[in-house]
Formats: sequence, structure tokens, C-alpha cells
Amino acid sequence: MSALMVNSEKGYIPASERIPVIARPFVSERAKKTLDLVEKFVEEECIPADTVYHQQIGVGVKERFTSHPQIIEDLKAKAKKLGLWNLFLPKAHFSEGAGFSNLEYGLMAEYLGKSRTAPEATNCAAPDTGNMEVLAKYGTAEQKKKWLEPLLDGKIRSAFLMTEPDIASSDATNISLSMRQEGNEWVLNGSKWWSSGAGDIRCQIYIVMGKSDPNNPKPYKQQSVILVPADTPGITIKRMLSVMGFDDAPHGHGHIVFNNVRVPVSNMVMGPGRGFEIIQGRLGPGRIHHAMRSVGAAEKALEWMLARMSDERKKPFGKLLSEHGVMLDRVARSRIDIDAARLAVLNAAIKIDETNAKGALKEIAEVKVQVPETLLKTIDWAMQAYGAAGVCQDTPLANMYSIGRTMRIVDGPDEVHLLQLGRNENKKGKAHKSRIEAQAAKSDELLKQYGLEKKDVLQLNRVSGGKSKL
Ligand SMILES: Cc1cc2nc3c(=O)[nH]c(=O)nc-3n(C[C@H](O)[C@H](O)[C@H](O)COP(=O)(O)OP(=O)(O)OC[C@H]3O[C@@H](n4cnc5c(N)ncnc54)[C@H](O)[C@@H]3O)c2cc1C
Repeated sequence: MSALMVNSEKGYIPASERIPVIARPFVSERAKKTLDLVEKFVEEECIPADTVYHQQIGVGVKERFTSHPQIIEDLKAKAKKLGLWNLFLPKAHFSEGAGFSNLEYGLMAEYLGKSRTAPEATNCAAPDTGNMEVLAKYGTAEQKKKWLEPLLDGKIRSAFLMTEPDIASSDATNISLSMRQEGNEWVLNGSKWWSSGAGDIRCQIYIVMGKSDPNNPKPYKQQSVILVPADTPGITIKRMLSVMGFDDAPHGHGHIVFNNVRVPVSNMVMGPGRGFEIIQGRLGPGRIHHAMRSVGAAEKALEWMLARMSDERKKPFGKLLSEHGVMLDRVARSRIDIDAARLAVLNAAIKIDETNAKGALKEIAEVKVQVPETLLKTIDWAMQAYGAAGVCQDTPLANMYSIGRTMRIVDGPDEVHLLQLGRNENKKGKAHKSRIEAQAAKSDELLKQYGLEKKDVLQLNRVSGGKSKL
């Protein structure tokens, strides 16, 4: 067995044998075989390729945002040959994917989350995954032919343009890029930012949310979603945005201006006023995919931490880091949190398989908040174990931290999900109150039935200067 695959003291235990017991009954033999292939592909091909990829991107804004590292095409060819392609489209809801369930993909996505190149190499990278789901779910035959097919083939890339610089975008009713119909065209004016993937020269299609009916009394009917080819006249990618100093090139995050951008009415998705339905359908799966990959990123951080703790060259105060108790405490806590996060993610995936993303809103919201917390804490401890090396370019940890930190904001900030979860939980308050009161009333009846007088078992009634009456 290659040293690249050794994952335990006893040697190599394949991913399929490490599936949590609770999830095993839901995983097919075919998925188990694919899972092992994914693990091998990520560990042996993608992680070593990440360094080459980063170097092939080059230096300087122009070069970094026009380059297309050759190694990614080589990896894509290998992945296709192995059948590791479009693993994400769940079989219960789509016919276009590789035929796995959300749960099965969840197990695989964890490994993809350990490498920069692996998601794109297998055509399972955001934002294309969510965008392909939108096209597969809501697109017309013409839209599918034009955009979904080349995306499924890995020939082009895409971006999802919702967030705007001048409004609070976590409340999507605020989205205000103007969409005005003129004859057979929609005319778009306004600005978008944090358009992930727009920096890539292969990004050919934008899925854009705008306001098409500002006077509609129903605020959830004011927005629409339209497909805008990236080369349409009137579009300017003003600048790229950095994430805590990282440019995420060549994918990147664009700040884009629309100036009288004209798009045929046939590019509208589902029809005017259907924007909310579409983004709800898109953001659910997007959120769980992030969570699945984040579990893998947390595992990777823990692996780096353990590696540093057994580095014989580095012995502060005469001991290996692994001989300092606090480090073992952090390892144990990371293990507990990552295992708990994985179970929550897999549980959400099973719920989506059994219903759909809407039916699993609670479970998705839970992991949307829980997993980034676990990821960030684990990376933070791993960075601490490396000392100054942990915050520089000598480990992947600093870059991973920047990505992990954005997970508390992307696809809606923590607060929005917590508020929703809190509100829904709070709805049960009255029912709980009545049940608790009914149980107390029944206790009173039972006391009577058994000839007992109701009293506090700790009642003392001790009076100063006299004998207590018990
Ligand atoms: C790396 C990265 C990639 C992204 N990719 C994309 C993309 O591809 N496409 C896209 O459209 N967008 C993308 N985004 C944008 C992201 O989805 C938004 O930033 C997010 O929805 C929050 O919107 P906002 O930035 O306008 O924050 P605002 O809406 O201005 O919110 C600011 C803060 O207010 C607080 N807040 C908000 N609501 C509540 C509440 N109900 N209760 C209490 N506090 C609250 C939160 O702390 C929140 O962080 C990306 C962002 C990042 C960082």
C-alpha cells in the first residue's frame, strides 16, 4: 500500500469501512466502491497536484485571472476515466448525474473537501453544482441544451449573481438590480458583488437575480432570475475581491456592473416573479454541499495538527507536542466535534433523500451553523500547534481558515439561520407549557390516589431558637 494512503496506526482502512454505522444501511455497494476510488484519487492525485495548481496560476492580477492550469484538465481526464464525474446530482431528483443519493455523495464530498483541485477535477465544484441543479430543475429544454450540457461536460463554468454592494443581501427581498422588459428583451442595470467564479475565463454564464416587478404588493414576487451570457455587451467586471488577503484565483469573487445589458426573454428562468422559488431551491443543496466538504477540511486540519504533534525536530520544553496534555485534549475535542458534525451532515442528507431540500430545511440550517464552527475551531487549534508556521504559506491552514471563515457568511449568515431555527423551536413553547402543566395536574391526582399529601421532599421548616417541625 502506498504511503500516500496510510491513514491509521495499523495501516490503511478504506473509506468504505469507515462509514459511520448509522449511515451504512443507506449506502449501496456501488457507492462504497466509488467512495474508495474518490479517497484514493484525492489522496494520491489531487492533494499532491494542489501545489502544482497554485504555481501554475502564476503571478499578477492579469495572469492569475486568465490562467487555466493544465494540471486541472489532466485531473479531469483521470477522474472521468475512473467514473468520478458529476457525483453530486442526487438520483432521487435528477437523471443527469452519476446516480448516487445525497447521503452517498455526502460521504464522497468529504474527501473532495480536502483538496483545492478535487471538486473541480470531478465536476463537483461550487458554484457550478448549485447552478447545474437550477438548470436541471427549472431550465427549459433550450436552456438545458445551451448551458446545462456544457456545464455537465466540464467545458464551461458559471456564476450565481445575487449579492449586491449597496443593500443588505442576507434579506433577498432587498435585491434590486433593475430588470425592465422592452419588447423581446429584458434590460438589466445595477451592480453585483461576491460573484464567485466570475474571474475564471471559462465562466460563460451568469445566473442573475434582479427586481423585475418593484411595485408588486407581494415582496416575494418582485424578483426574477435570468440567464445572462458573460460576454453580453454592457457587463464590466470592475475588480476582484480578496478573502482575508487570498484572491482565490482564477475562480475569484467579482464585483460586476451591469449597464443596459440586454437579454432575450427566453433566458428568463421559470418566468417573471419566480426568483424566490428558484433561490430557495438552489441555496438548500448549496449549503449542504459546503457542509459536506467542510467536514473533510476539518479532518485535514486535524491530520496536519497530529503530524506536527509527532514532529521529532520540534520539542518545546523537552517534550513532543503530543506529550503536552493540552494538545491531546484539543485532539480529543476535535475528534468529538468532527464526528458529531459528520453525523449531522449525513442525517441532513438522508432527510433530503427522503423528502427534498425543503423538507430538510431544519437539518440543513443546523449543519450550516454547526459545521463551520467545528471547522474553524479545529483549524485554529492546528494553526496554534504549528506556531508561526501555522499562519504563513508553509501549511495550507491559513488559506483553509479564510475559506472556513466565509462559511459563516456565504449562502446567508449564521444569524439568519439561527433566527429561523430559534423561531421554529420557540413555536413549540406553548405546547410544552401545556404538557408540563398537564403532567403536574396528573401528579396531583396520583398523589391523592396514593393517599399522599403534596410536599417538597427537601422541606425543612427549621425555625431559629426552636425545634423544627418536620
Ligand atoms: C467567499 C464568498 C463567496 C460568496 N459567493 C457568492 C456568490 O457566488 N453569489 C452571491 O450572490 N453571493 C455570494 N456571496 C455573498 C454572501 O452570500 C453574502 O455576503 C451573504 O448572503 C450576506 O449578505 P451581505 O454581505 O449583504 O450581508 P448583510 O445582509 O449586510 O448582513 C451583514 C451582517 O448582518 C447580520 N445580520 C443579517 N441578518 C441578520 C438577522 N436577521 N439577525 C441578526 N443579524 C443579522 C449578520 O451578522 C450579517 O453578517 C459570497 C460571500 C463570500 C464571503
